[in-house]
Amino acid sequence: MIPDRLKRLRAILEEKKLDALLVNKLVHLHYFSGFRGDDSVLIITGSKALLVTDSRYVEQAGQQAPLFEVVKQEEGLWKKAAECLRSLGCRNVGFEGDALYYNDYARMAGLLEGIGFREAVDLGALRQVKEAEEISSIRRACEIADRAFEDVLGFLRPGISEIEVAAHLENCMRQLGSEEPSFTTIVASGERGSLPHGIATEKLIVAGEFVTMDYGAVYQGYHSDITRTVCMGTADGRQREIYGNVLKAQLAALGAIRAGVSGRSVDQVARDSLERDGLVQYFGHGLGHSLGLEIHEEPRLSPHSKCEQLEPGMLVTDEPGVYIPGWGGLRIEDTVLVTETGGEPLTRSSKQLIELKGQ
Ligand code: ZN
Ligand code: ZN
Repeated sequence: MIPDRLKRLRAILEEKKLDALLVNKLVHLHYFSGFRGDDSVLIITGSKALLVTDSRYVEQAGQQAPLFEVVKQEEGLWKKAAECLRSLGCRNVGFEGDALYYNDYARMAGLLEGIGFREAVDLGALRQVKEAEEISSIRRACEIADRAFEDVLGFLRPGISEIEVAAHLENCMRQLGSEEPSFTTIVASGERGSLPHGIATEKLIVAGEFVTMDYGAVYQGYHSDITRTVCMGTADGRQREIYGNVLKAQLAALGAIRAGVSGRSVDQVARDSLERDGLVQYFGHGLGHSLGLEIHEEPRLSPHSKCEQLEPGMLVTDEPGVYIPGWGGLRIEDTVLVTETGGEPLTRSSKQLIELKGQ
């Protein structure tokens, strides 16, 4: 909860010998204060927590961020933030290196002349392990995505466009309480299945094609991520075989997820499985990513993952795919909760090959 999150921020102040942190990343306004507006910054010192915002958000900030002193700015966000830092007597201020645009940094550095403003901090690591309340929001976002999948199966038929499929999924999730799509919905049919990030187009779906749908819901700010590939009609031998191989890799990796293992080792399990089936050269991306307030977060499951040990309460996706130019492709993805003993898939839609017939 917020007091504990502020404690973790203040530990960084101490560790980096800073008097204050300037927090401006949108999801961090939410994570560290509870406030869900934009165009605002947080200023955290050892004893103070300020939220600088404008007239549109003063009332909302008071309600959503009760632990923060709300400061209203009328002549510019950075000017007010600099004034606050000066009046608090700060000598050394940290900022978010991955969130503060260069132009804003330069502006702030000018306004803070005489005050140290060089320490870039990365706050993302503080929210890798999710709290119970965060996990229940992600669980809900996954349930919404699962229900949309069930619904879209009755809508899919030859002759409709990928965009219509995406719109159906998104509308369904919205009606079930999703705030927005997790990301631009991917619907890739037929040969377009070889595009790992093939966002939906006006292409019409043809009988016999694979249709890959990669999408998610957002609940209380928290994302879900699921991919399912279905066949529009009866699958041919090659489709059936490759689908089975991707599913085998996905399940093998799922069985390898647990607290204590590295992000590289889980990726390797899926890669080894596809290698045994002669398909590893068609699997170009990493196996998965974490997610939460953002759709892509650390830790990753990939050959380059820096995560030495997954921890209970982390979330990862398990999403191997095979992409063959000229033929097509497929991917199967779950959002998975890391526990002491294994990986619990929070997306639960069937992964057996679904052949949509008679529609
Ligand atoms: Zn996805
Ligand atoms: Zn994903």
